[in-house]
Amino acid sequence: MKIICIGRNFLDHAKEMNAEQPSEPVFFIKPETAFTSQTELKIPEFTNNLNYELELVFRISKTASNVLESDALAYFDAWTLGIDFTARDIQEELKAKRLPWEKAKAFDCSAFCAAFVNLSNQKLPENRFNLHLNKQLVQSGCISEMIFSPMQLLAYVSRFITLHKDDLLYTGTPAGVGPLKSGDILSGTYDFTQIFEIQMK
Ligand code: MG
Repeated sequence: MKIICIGRNFLDHAKEMNAEQPSEPVFFIKPETAFTSQTELKIPEFTNNLNYELELVFRISKTASNVLESDALAYFDAWTLGIDFTARDIQEELKAKRLPWEKAKAFDCSAFCAAFVNLSNQKLPENRFNLHLNKQLVQSGCISEMIFSPMQLLAYVSRFITLHKDDLLYTGTPAGVGPLKSGDILSGTYDFTQIFEIQMK
């Protein structure tokens, strides 16, 4: 299983990162060892600025290569909310040196995923998804606010990389990313329903 993550897919987040709106999707990969569904997570000792990034996540249903955007929806079989944990201090260092981001993005337990919800009737989760940090709303987004739709993203990525059943697509984070400390509680909701709660250790 591999995890494809999209960067800068919400204009307000691209702005807060001082990045331009991308003319085509930006993507990177996390390895299988990054995946976690544990709801108690330890802040890694190698970062002083672990950030949360709430994202809508889609699970791939079958082998996908050179998929057309018009066919892409059939390649998703479930969705959920996830966190693309990011060592922001390390990422800034790597960006400044124009080096790859893996050390900041691909570490163990950096891809949290809540329980999957089957995509019934291939209907996309189009309502708002939200992240609360210690009960305070910090992030909110929805598919219609994405620069590239989940179908456009799958079509684009599958031109370069073949996706297999159970691979995951993280579709990018809205504005409001920020740092975490031990004791913080992250709560993800979709359309007023709680999808996950994570305690940072
Ligand atoms: Mg992200």
